[in-house]
Amino acid sequence: MQTETRIQVADIPEEGLFLNFAELSHLIPEVDEYVQIGNTSGRLEIQKSGNDIEIRGWVKSTVNLVCDRCLKTFPKEIETSFFYLLQPRDTFGADLEPDHQLSTDEIDVYWYEDGEIRGEELFREQILLQLPMRVLCSEECKGLCPGCGEDLNESECKCAKENVDSPFAVLAQLKSSR
Ligand SMILES: [Zn+2]
Ligand SMILES: [Zn+2]
Repeated sequence: MQTETRIQVADIPEEGLFLNFAELSHLIPEVDEYVQIGNTSGRLEIQKSGNDIEIRGWVKSTVNLVCDRCLKTFPKEIETSFFYLLQPRDTFGADLEPDHQLSTDEIDVYWYEDGEIRGEELFREQILLQLPMRVLCSEECKGLCPGCGEDLNESECKCAKENVDSPFAVLAQLKSSR
């Protein structure tokens, strides 16, 4: 098992380089709201063709997320495979159509620098890409009551009973009884 994720392009043999990683537990900096928990493992299959580098990879991790609705922390398992084409920075994009040079995202072409591939950056990007824009512990999460702050997944709202006499509560009862 490999833990060093920086790969020297000069060290990649003709037949390619196949690396398995474990214990990649610090891909995401602690300053982020996401925290990796448990073990993170990954694989990189690296092929060289001239100066171009093709990378097929896979990564599996568990990240603690905070639910947007109930604010509870919950673990989310992430597993994904990916493909990158890397070119040296100085010739990067030279053989692409001029129109495409600014939108290289679509074709997943990236550059590498100083003859070095930073595997940890590929893994980190792939993990972050898997995180949802809207984080929910479950689609059915009821969230917190804006009135009493009670976690509605776990207990009844405490303010409902007090407000039964309010016009809005009466209206709500009328609506739900139809
Ligand atoms: Zn929730
Ligand atoms: Zn309430």
